[in-house]
Amino acid sequence: MDQLGRTSETPKSPWGGCPPAMPSCSLSDVMSEELARQLEEENKAFPSLTNPEVSLLSGEETDTNSDLMLARLLQMQYDRECDTQLRREERKYNGESKVSISFENYRTAHPYDGSESSEDEVDWQDTRDDPYKPDKPQVTPRKGFTGKGKNITTKHDEVVCGRKNTARMDNFAPEVLVGDGLGMDLKLSNQVFNSLKQHCHSEQRRSARLHDKKEHSTSEQAVDPRTRLLMYKMVSAGTLERINGCISTGKESVVFHANGGMLEEQPVPEEVVLKVFKTTLNEFKNRDRYIKDDYRFKDRFSKLNPRKIIRLWAEKEMHNLARMKKAGIPCPEVALLSKHILVMSFIGKDHVPAPKLKDTMLGAADMKTAYYQVLQMMQQMYQECNLVHADLSEYNMLWHQGQVWLIDVSQSVEPSHPHGLQFLFRDCTNVSTFFQKRGVAEAMSVYELFNCVTGLDLTINEEDEAEFLAQIEALEKRNEDHVQKRGKTFPLSSWDGSPPLKHAADD
Ligand code: ADP
Ligand code: MG
Repeated sequence: MDQLGRTSETPKSPWGGCPPAMPSCSLSDVMSEELARQLEEENKAFPSLTNPEVSLLSGEETDTNSDLMLARLLQMQYDRECDTQLRREERKYNGESKVSISFENYRTAHPYDGSESSEDEVDWQDTRDDPYKPDKPQVTPRKGFTGKGKNITTKHDEVVCGRKNTARMDNFAPEVLVGDGLGMDLKLSNQVFNSLKQHCHSEQRRSARLHDKKEHSTSEQAVDPRTRLLMYKMVSAGTLERINGCISTGKESVVFHANGGMLEEQPVPEEVVLKVFKTTLNEFKNRDRYIKDDYRFKDRFSKLNPRKIIRLWAEKEMHNLARMKKAGIPCPEVALLSKHILVMSFIGKDHVPAPKLKDTMLGAADMKTAYYQVLQMMQQMYQECNLVHADLSEYNMLWHQGQVWLIDVSQSVEPSHPHGLQFLFRDCTNVSTFFQKRGVAEAMSVYELFNCVTGLDLTINEEDEAEFLAQIEALEKRNEDHVQKRGKTFPLSSWDGSPPLKHAADD
């Protein structure tokens, strides 16, 4: 030991210790095959890396993509640690003080951070309290009139009907812009309402054509980095073998084709799709009512933050598909749900997705078969699954192996949903219009189809859609009253099939 207390064996450098130098070896050693074999054996004995995030290091993935992913993962870890430290310091700084100082602005809000704390960084427009939503239209009571003597108002009153027709505009398809009329005291006559509705149908078809073109546009920007990371993890964990191309870029979701791997020792189908629900929520604001009034999801909806609501959509699709599968309806089978990504079986073959019904060129016989299949599926969905598709059209039906397959059921609701029957009416309109246009002579009118699917017997006046809708609304009202009185929905089985307006008159 010298005067400064250092030992001669362990000289300390101010830059820290350096590892002992590798023993030198000769060129002949380096070239030796025996040594190469020995090194290989040593490598094999190296403990296996079970963490999928670290398994990138195992050499399977050596392209720059993996490096980028790895860098992101490390950055994420680092940011998380910084944030935890910051929180600790914040607590220490504030102590028990009643007035506290927030360090929030110093946090590293990293885009790849999957932690709960950054759940709210979304492009969200809260629609739960829509300022333009009018108050509920006044409802005529069961007895069919209000007031006394000269001031009596019946349900056929022009003003009341007019207001109701205005409120009905709210139930046009989400993409139909109805302006701010909803917030005003507008009174639309049945005639005006009916022609407006007609106009909307043709607008919907036109916008669907445009939307179709958009689907072929680039999908580069379609998923955010957080989602890409989730997808990447599915591959690195072996659940998916590989993610191939993008099949569709819609408003609410992006769909990818992928090859399945293994999940908890169970094989995932050879060909699957990943339906990624978009996390930019603007597109979802019109769809709130499909979920917030669905009693299955209602309680959770009110408590959740926006990002979690998106996950609820994926979850809803999963549950709805499960019900349909159970009833034997041809539809995709769910393999896995991970946050806002739903992995399900691919309808199609060898990377080629089955065509949408609107893109098929079926002969008359096949078209007729397809029609009866759809009719049966609508009945099964309503009666056995207790569901209304709520976005049924030739865009969400695929033709595969001589069979129509139903897809896209994230917005499907139970018929007892406050607008469930109106959604069903819209489905019937789409189905009936499509098959009639494609020359299926047997295709029923929208009204007949509605009665046939529900087993109800609402009065039909082909010329007057508003009148039919009024009957539907009366039924929905009956259900709502039932919920208020009894705390549960009206059991479908006890709908006797008689028109509700007659009941109202009888009361
Ligand atoms: P969106 O809500 O965006 O309309 P969809 O569920 O309808 O989402 O999917 C969009 C498109 O992706 C469909 O029109 C269909 O072409 C394709 N697709 C979706 N699911 C499947 C599937 N399981 N198999 C094959 N193609 C699918
Ligand atoms: Mg769709």
